[in-house]
Amino acid sequence: MSETFGIHWFRRDLRVAGNPGLKATFERHQGRVVGLFCFDAKFLSRPDFSHDRFGFFLATLRELKEELLEQGSDLLVIDSSPNEGWERLVEYLRPQGPFTVSFNRDYEPFARERDEKILELFKNKGIEVKTHRDHLLIEPSDLKKDDGGYYQVYSPFARKWLDLLQSSNIRDRISEQKKGLSYLQRRRKGESKQIFTLTWKSLDRGGFPFIDAFEQFENKTSKMVKIPLPEAGSLAAFRRLEAFSPHLSRYGEDRDIPGIDGTSQLSIFLKNGSLTSSQIIAALELDKTSGWKDSSGASKYLKEIIWREFYYHILFHRPDVEIQSFLPAFRDLPWENRQDWFLRWCEGTTGYPIVDAGMRQLNQTGWMHNRVRMIVASFLTKDLLIDWRWGEKYFMEKLLDGDLAPNNGGWQWAASTGCDPQPYFRIFNPVLQSERFDPEGSYIKRYVPELKNVAADCLHDPLRIPSSAGYPKPLVEHREQKEKALRMYASAKK
Ligand SMILES: Cc1cc2nc3c(=O)[nH]c(=O)nc-3n(C[C@H](O)[C@H](O)[C@H](O)COP(=O)(O)OP(=O)(O)OC[C@H]3O[C@@H](n4cnc5c(N)ncnc54)[C@H](O)[C@@H]3O)c2cc1C
Repeated sequence: MSETFGIHWFRRDLRVAGNPGLKATFERHQGRVVGLFCFDAKFLSRPDFSHDRFGFFLATLRELKEELLEQGSDLLVIDSSPNEGWERLVEYLRPQGPFTVSFNRDYEPFARERDEKILELFKNKGIEVKTHRDHLLIEPSDLKKDDGGYYQVYSPFARKWLDLLQSSNIRDRISEQKKGLSYLQRRRKGESKQIFTLTWKSLDRGGFPFIDAFEQFENKTSKMVKIPLPEAGSLAAFRRLEAFSPHLSRYGEDRDIPGIDGTSQLSIFLKNGSLTSSQIIAALELDKTSGWKDSSGASKYLKEIIWREFYYHILFHRPDVEIQSFLPAFRDLPWENRQDWFLRWCEGTTGYPIVDAGMRQLNQTGWMHNRVRMIVASFLTKDLLIDWRWGEKYFMEKLLDGDLAPNNGGWQWAASTGCDPQPYFRIFNPVLQSERFDPEGSYIKRYVPELKNVAADCLHDPLRIPSSAGYPKPLVEHREQKEKALRMYASAKK
């Protein structure tokens, strides 16, 4: 009988190190595993598709492909929907001997629907398939309220999450991730060896149903990418993690100051699965923090990781948040939706320096500091009275870390329409936020060069900026707009 083999279907787990599905299939078939990636046209035609983010995704895929080749395996990238792709591959490969399929679970509504169909397809064809937990440390099925429902408030969710973190099952998973990290350390020193023993080439007996579409996508996309892309892949993520590690103890103090590099900037890697929250926890030993009562940088950092997981859980239980407000009372707010104001917000010419600096950072780099994300989101919804979904979509078009669950969660938090949001009557004052979090104006000056010669004490309030600076006049008056917003939310509440 011919030897068995496995195919690991990569989706948003673009790494070898500590990849549970890949590892299980590797062990099951003694290294006879190849990787597959399908470019799904449905995904590529989403209205919030971003060429920049796709460019970063492709760079990550390239790293993965090279790593798999170096390790003795390969990644086949096909231009086909998963359904059609698997259908044709199964027919072609079946005569070559029994094989199994693995993939790591995804929680987005689109992905869940896709995966259900694929599982059905494998079942009908009699192909063994195993799915694994990867993207989240604690999955929605693991964390429920005592009455079986789901948590809608962050604090009790986080307390339960922290309890589960100490369970033996999760601790084992974190120890397992430490092995993945030592593999990365060895790889970085060039010490890794070939461990896989199967390639797509060796499975080609003539008439192979696909040609590898990676380069075609890469060539097309490279012309569309408009911003410089950071280094991609799991080694780059690991280097970033190591560089952040000495700053962890100051995370509590530094994380809100956009003018310094006080945060890890790991979100772009988490999005693609070049790195996972469990690897971060393992590497930074965040599981050793005493959790809630502890005010260390590590504990604060862990709480942010838990916010991310919280938003994934919400999206899992309430997929409708993708299209509407979590809170029914705020589903039909009478947004003013002025297109001209929206364009000014997008380009960073609202006349509020901290808002404009944030939007220009986003447009130039594909990333924005979290404090500033909150400020610009509050400004769009509660000063410009524009629907949060417009801002959410614009962020997705621009962010390299654009990720449905945290993006939707962040927007609905700022717009006060989400679960456990900022209360609607707490409206950020962009001038006070700017004075508090960018007192010297170093962040503003970096992204709004018109203001580089303006003294720090005149930099935050639009009315104090000298007209000689050539900087736009403020679009709106904050106090007036705040009153309007309060009236809008209060009447919807009635
Ligand atoms: C309006 C708005 C939109 C957002 N859109 C996205 C998005 O599309 N993709 C995305 O990954 N994050 C999003 N966030 C959350 C947060 O801003 C980013 O995760 C963070 O800025 C990424 O930078 P970092 O890796 O340096 O974060 P760090 O401060 O180093 O935090 C570590 C990790 O914790 C998670 N995290 C941190 N803050 C939050 C938060 N507020 N909510 C959820 N998770 C968090 C991220 O995974 C992050 O990488 C959004 C927040 C807001 C307010």
